[in-house]
Amino acid sequence: MSVPRPGALRRTLVLLAAWSALTVTAVSSAPPATAASSAAASPRAHRAYVVTISDPRVSGDVSAATATRVTRSAASYWTSESRGAITSFAVKQTRTMRISGSCGLTAGQLWSRAAKKFPGVDFSGKANHLVVYSPTGCRYGYSGLADAGTVHSGGKVHMVYPRMNLVAHELGHNLGLMHSNVRTGKGSSTRTSEYYGLYGPMGIGMGARYAPGALGAAQRAFLKLPGEARSTVALDTSTAQTRTVTLKPTHWRSGTRAVRITDKRTGISYYLEYRNGRGTDDATYYAASGLGPLTVQYRSVVYRSGLLATQAKRRGGVEVLSTGRSGRWHTTHRQGQTFSSSGVPFTATVVSQTATSMKVRVSIKRSV
Ligand SMILES: [Zn+2]
Repeated sequence: MSVPRPGALRRTLVLLAAWSALTVTAVSSAPPATAASSAAASPRAHRAYVVTISDPRVSGDVSAATATRVTRSAASYWTSESRGAITSFAVKQTRTMRISGSCGLTAGQLWSRAAKKFPGVDFSGKANHLVVYSPTGCRYGYSGLADAGTVHSGGKVHMVYPRMNLVAHELGHNLGLMHSNVRTGKGSSTRTSEYYGLYGPMGIGMGARYAPGALGAAQRAFLKLPGEARSTVALDTSTAQTRTVTLKPTHWRSGTRAVRITDKRTGISYYLEYRNGRGTDDATYYAASGLGPLTVQYRSVVYRSGLLATQAKRRGGVEVLSTGRSGRWHTTHRQGQTFSSSGVPFTATVVSQTATSMKVRVSIKRSV
């Protein structure tokens, strides 16, 4: 679904389905053009304006205190994960709208009423985010909805569940990111399952108790976050080659944190990174111990710490690649294991690993 706007940006609306549902994203209009510059995103302050709804006709009004707290937590997540691009992200004001029968209003209608609470604040292009919380008793068919923006555009968010990992996901859309998906199978049985790349904020929010985890290398590169070029070993397929790289965990702020392999024939970029399940990733779904494989569209998919291979997708989306082994699809790889995936022009073997470092041998096939 899309909403034409009078401003310069025609934005796409993206939504996160209730977390048990699959592939409910609706995208139609073209993404806003981004400047074709390789320079890092310039630092800028963001602001959140929060609106709750008091509705006598439905249960589950979200309190101003809860809305403020959850928004502050998600905003703080992005201040940290933007690695300097977002210098601060404060909740500037919180207001409550009294609307009887609010569930009957669309996100667009709610946003337009909510924006009137903040006269003079521009929610398009000015790093201002309008976040509206509907009562949890409303049924919208999604848990959150947002604009597809660019890193400093700001935008609007509609939340039906006041949960930090869901708000962080929607704010990620405002920043210009699309979903994190998972690819399983090989050859003609290859399948992409939207939302199930469960590393970082742009997958599905797997329950209230899990943290989003660090923003991954492909999406950091898409946003041109400061320091990314420096922390990435860039390789391509112009010659067959084998390289051994020592990776620090992807959430670290120093050292080599990613390998990018660009296929010179297709232009597709792949990333390798080490998810060690600690620090920013400590409370994530994949780092939780004792979880067995997850059934994703009838396939058994394993999420745990290790070497992660992803493919950058259009418009800031990302796909987690998996290796099939013993009837399961493994999204990460550990010492002695090799990542390989059909159609991907390299393999990557974990030579050795510690809790905070991983040596990876990358063998690239020529593809020009
Ligand atoms: Zn989404």
